[in-house]
Amino acid sequence: MTAKKRGIWVFGDYRNYFQNRVTLQLLSRAKELAVKINAEVCAVVFGYKTDEWKGDVLSYNPTFCGVVGEYIAHGADKVYLADHPRLAAYSMETYTLLMERLVKREKPEIILIGATAFGREFAPRVAKRLGTGLTADCIGLDINEEGLLVQMAPSFGGNLVAEIVTLERRPQMATVRPGTFQEIPHDYVRTGEVVKVPLPKTLPADRVRLVRSEHHPQREQKLEDAKVVVCGGRGLGSKKKFAKLFELAELLGGEVGATRPVVYADWADHDALVGQAGKHVRPQILFSFGISGAIQHTAACNDAKFIIAVNKNPNAAMMKRADVAIVADASQICTTLIQELKRRIR
Ligand SMILES: Cc1cc2nc3c(=O)[nH]c(=O)nc-3n(C[C@H](O)[C@H](O)[C@H](O)COP(=O)(O)OP(=O)(O)OC[C@H]3O[C@@H](n4cnc5c(N)ncnc54)[C@H](O)[C@@H]3O)c2cc1C
Repeated sequence: MTAKKRGIWVFGDYRNYFQNRVTLQLLSRAKELAVKINAEVCAVVFGYKTDEWKGDVLSYNPTFCGVVGEYIAHGADKVYLADHPRLAAYSMETYTLLMERLVKREKPEIILIGATAFGREFAPRVAKRLGTGLTADCIGLDINEEGLLVQMAPSFGGNLVAEIVTLERRPQMATVRPGTFQEIPHDYVRTGEVVKVPLPKTLPADRVRLVRSEHHPQREQKLEDAKVVVCGGRGLGSKKKFAKLFELAELLGGEVGATRPVVYADWADHDALVGQAGKHVRPQILFSFGISGAIQHTAACNDAKFIIAVNKNPNAAMMKRADVAIVADASQICTTLIQELKRRIR
């Protein structure tokens, strides 16, 4: 009899699919890690009518309209599927119980969960129930010589990246920032196994009930996936001046990012935060207006292909990293760019 393959599990967080690709990014990395420890990649899907799922709003691929097919096409060898009306909306108690039971039965080696609002609530609860460790908000994953998962996470205010391994407890668990890894393209001919997961006879009573949910289509493109990112910092001087970045981003077909002081000052939503506590971006072009370039911010910009920085201070760290460094007033350059782009479009 052949020994059961070890499992690298990725929890399928498919809500807001077009804004949240982290599950696909994790499947891609899991595939690479699986080669190193001869494991199989499994996705775990909890939901209702998952075979009718069409990516929330668009059905862009008739072959894979279900979320299960989508995960197989993106690298899962096996999908554990629990499909039941009680799972239609995320219920913390039910999802945690189900995951705990499944993990205890199947004993995966590694579990990866996206560090989304959902994942940040769900993963620690599951880890606690299983009595294992969890590294939150990882920015890198690898396998070491002993075959252990190396979980890379910022520490000491982002000045260091700690490499954490879970020596004894199992599974090894990590949440990973969206945008850390790149998804692999669909493979339309891939096949995989689907294992149906039954619900226990008695389920915990939900302490929270979903009354209503609304889809916010205004952010169709995600900051993490944008080809152009226009990022602004405190040097822009005011909310009004910061707002100009949205106009510039629209003209460039890009997205707006922000530093922490800007988010704290309520010039931008938390969604726009770029950095250790926010999102990782990897654009072709990154504009940086009035940003000093603190490590907690730039750590999430390392994958930008080309950086254009505007700062009054030529010695600002961001200026040293930039491919083009413009010593000038940030707001003025932003306004000039908008005018010039509009003139060219006309
Ligand atoms: C645990 C921890 C986590 C953190 N996480 C994050 C994170 O995720 N993201 C993040 O961004 N920060 C984060 N920070 C904060 C980070 O350390 C910096 O404080 C922050 O990035 C600085 O933002 P800033 O560049 O907008 O502001 P500042 O550092 O104040 O820089 C403003 C810049 O604007 C320039 N300037 C001023 N006036 C003008 C002008 N008129 N025109 C052009 N340039 C001008 C200045 O020369 C300066 O370089 C974190 C900090 C900690 C401790």
